[in-house]
Formats: sequence, C-alpha cells, structure tokens
Amino acid sequence: MTHDVVLIPGDGIGPEITEAMRRVVEATGVSITWHVEQAGAGVMDEYGTPLPQRVLDAVSKVGVAIKGPITTPIGTGFRSVNVALRHAFNLYACVRPCLSLPGDGSRYHDVDLVIFRENTEDLYAGIEFDPGAPEVAALAGLVDQAGLRPFRADSAISIKPISEAGSRAIAEAAFEYAERCGRRKVTAVHKANIMKATDGLFLRTVREVASEHPSIAFEDKIVDAACMGLVQDPSDFDVLVLPNLYGDIVSDLCAGLVGGLGMAPGANIGTSCAIFEATHGSAPDIAGQDIANPTAEILSAAMMLEHLGEAEAAEQIRAAVRATLAEGAVVTADVRRALTGSTEGAAGTQAYADAVIAHL
Ligand code: NAD
Repeated sequence: MTHDVVLIPGDGIGPEITEAMRRVVEATGVSITWHVEQAGAGVMDEYGTPLPQRVLDAVSKVGVAIKGPITTPIGTGFRSVNVALRHAFNLYACVRPCLSLPGDGSRYHDVDLVIFRENTEDLYAGIEFDPGAPEVAALAGLVDQAGLRPFRADSAISIKPISEAGSRAIAEAAFEYAERCGRRKVTAVHKANIMKATDGLFLRTVREVASEHPSIAFEDKIVDAACMGLVQDPSDFDVLVLPNLYGDIVSDLCAGLVGGLGMAPGANIGTSCAIFEATHGSAPDIAGQDIANPTAEILSAAMMLEHLGEAEAAEQIRAAVRATLAEGAVVTADVRRALTGSTEGAAGTQAYADAVIAHL
C-alpha cells in the first residue's frame, strides 16, 4: 500500500533534516508519495502570504503531513505559520515523547516521559493589541468596571483564552494515551494559584477527566515547581498535560533532559488530520552547514509511520537510531560536543542519516 504524505520542508535547517528524514523513511521500504509544499518567508513574494492556500488544501486532502521548522519573525512581521497550521486543522494535541537513548549525550539516563501540550488556545490564540490601540482603552474600561487594579495606559495586551472544551480534549488525549500505552501517572502542570480563572478551569477540567480514568494515578504541579522537579528527578514524571505556553517551554526543558533539541520528536494531532514535526525551531545559527541533528525529525517520522499503521517500520527506525547513537561512531556535532566537549570527528546531517540507514 502506498501512503500519501504532505512534506513541508520549511526553512533554516528544515530542508536538510527533512531530506535526511525522507531518505531514512524510504530505506524502510514503506511506500510513500510525498506531496512537497513550501511555506514560510520564502513564498511571501510569490503568494503574498507565508501559508499559501495550496498548502492548506494539500494537508486537508491528504490528512497527514510532516514538516521542517519554519522561522517566525520576532516581535513584528507575520504570525507563526506553525501556529496557523495548528489552528487551521484544530490540531489540539501536541504530543512530545522524551526518551533517554544510550549515547544521546545527556546528563540523564532514565528519562521516559510524554508531554501532552494543548495546541490551540492560551496566549497562542493571537488576540493581541499594541499600546494605544482602541481595544486597549476598551479593556481598561472593562477592568475599571470590574473594580480590578488598573493597568498602565501604555500597555500592550495579549489575551489568554482557555476553554473547558479545549482542556477536556487535551486531558482525554493524555489519559487515553496513558491507558493505551500502560503508563502509570498523569501530571497536570498549571499556575492555577495565580491565574485562578484560566488555569483554574484547566486544572478543574483535567481533575474531572482524571476521575473518569481511575486506573491512572493523577497529580498536579505548579509549573515552576514542575520545572524544578523535572531537572532534579525526571523519573518522577510519566505523562504531563499542560496548557499551550507552559507546554512549549516545558517541551524544550524536557528536550534538554534527553540530549537536546536535536533529539525531541513531536506530533500535532487533530480529529481529521495530523502534522508531525520536531520540537525544535529552524536553528538559523547552524542552517545550510550540514551539521544539524536530524534525529528529532527522523523520530517524528517514526511517530507518523505508526499513525499510518506502519508500526513495524516505525520500530525499525527507532531501533536503528538507538543502535547508531549507542555505537557513537557517527554522531552529529551537538551529540559529539555533549559527549566529549568538542565537535571534532562529528558527522554531518546526511552522513548520520546514512549511518541510521545502515542500521535499519
Ligand atoms: P531553535 O530550536 O531553532 O534553536 C535553539 C538552539 O538549538 C540553537 O542553538 C540551535 O542551533 C539548536 N538546535 C535546534 N535544532 C537543532 C538540531 N536539529 N540539531 C542541532 N542543534 C539544534 O530555537 P530558536 O533559535 O529560538 O528559534 C529559531 C526560529 O525557529 C524562530 O523563528 C522560531 O520562531 C522558530 N520556531 C519554529 C518552530 C516550528 O517550526 N515548529 C518551533 C520553534 C521555533
């Protein structure tokens, strides 16, 4: 059977790591028709938008995509294409496994946790107003009416919507995953002591869902304490469920527990569509040099193969990555640096992919 997959190479290191990923997937023998679509700053001139309608149409038709990272201008410029894709297809669950691998260069050796990040709400909703905007004055009026402490007149405002339905969807995804995969515990991460309305609703809803899944242990932690706990003893965590922004930050923290951003895969899952991508960004500092670590993208492809019903090929890829890293002879600069303090003798992105292919 041939699978159709939309491939969005992205920018920065995206084209290099997606090329490595594609070669590894093809070497498993699984038959895939890749529908390559471009998005990001590079298509702005041609289409007048970083996310052309043709990309949305392709993802909508095929239902499965894998992408490289796409750069988002900081502070000004167009909104994130990555966030726009998650909103366009209601990809409400961002699933990010963090698993120690022998030879991954990390200080930790026993990390095995999975992050469930709500992917569509929270401060990522894109409801933002610059200082001086009429909406800021209108909000000041509402705050006054409510008898709350006024904010400064020259404030910018970002709004944080968190819904019961959105919280329930991500909580159910986390608990159902825990049951299906024999996990022991779900930890809800929040700041409900301060944001009693938004994070309070998130926590209450996750608690409710927890009570419907009595075979899975449940606890909650305030996000700052959770970060400290993760760094001190990651083995104390199993499945984590978080609102969008904490999920973003804690994902990178957890990537750091398993060898860095080059190691952390991910999936954005919705009801009718799934888009797979590494946790990391476009890494402009190392783009175009054939030095990026494609492991995160390759492991994202393994998640995609599982989603496509190709569990055997997925496991083949995971085993080949494990064997390549455990052997340690052909590893990228980030891993070599973590292991030896120097990048001397590091392999390039494509040479590392060749080593993974040789281990399939
Ligand atoms: P980043 O993840 O791109 O890079 C952070 C650090 O990690 C850099 O030093 C980088 O070299 C290193 N790194 C990242 N991936 C690596 C890999 N595969 N191999 C080796 N080293 C790797 O984060 P950033 O610099 O904050 O963001 C750069 C751009 O990416 C921004 O425009 C941001 O908005 C965007 N971004 C996109 C996505 C996405 O497409 N889903 C996700 C996060 C950030």
